[in-house]
Amino acid sequence: MTLTLTDLLNEKPDIPWCYTCQGDGYLVYVGGPGYYSTYHGNYLPTEREEPCDDCRGTGRNDHSSSPTNAVRHHLRNLTPSQRLHLERLTQGHQLAITPANYQALEDLLNEVENELGGKHPVTIELEAALDNAQLLEPATPPTAHRGPRIY
Ligand SMILES: [Zn+2]
Repeated sequence: MTLTLTDLLNEKPDIPWCYTCQGDGYLVYVGGPGYYSTYHGNYLPTEREEPCDDCRGTGRNDHSSSPTNAVRHHLRNLTPSQRLHLERLTQGHQLAITPANYQALEDLLNEVENELGGKHPVTIELEAALDNAQLLEPATPPTAHRGPRIY
């Protein structure tokens, strides 16, 4: 299974268990046919459990130093607005974003490229997403008659 940026963005950041193995820490590989079952009267596939690479068998997505988890960590560090922008850009929307957010996403791309390499699908997807971003001009200063707005 190749993880994509969309997969990573679909993961809820507040759920700490590993998505690859659903928190089990291992994956069950089914190879068949494996052995003849006299009880079932047919061949049953062999099942073998392999530790999950993504979480190194911990079952959590924040407990190992795998490159994908490093990327998850960087995604978690995005502000809600940066994350939203990234999600929409990844979906192919052309979006004007603020210079600060653009910078943050460019930094993210650099980190992802460091972790996964330039040829990884996530890196390529992120690059394509950033291509959809248009840099917003710096905001025009508020007009004089308008008082400061507090949100
Ligand atoms: Zn796992």
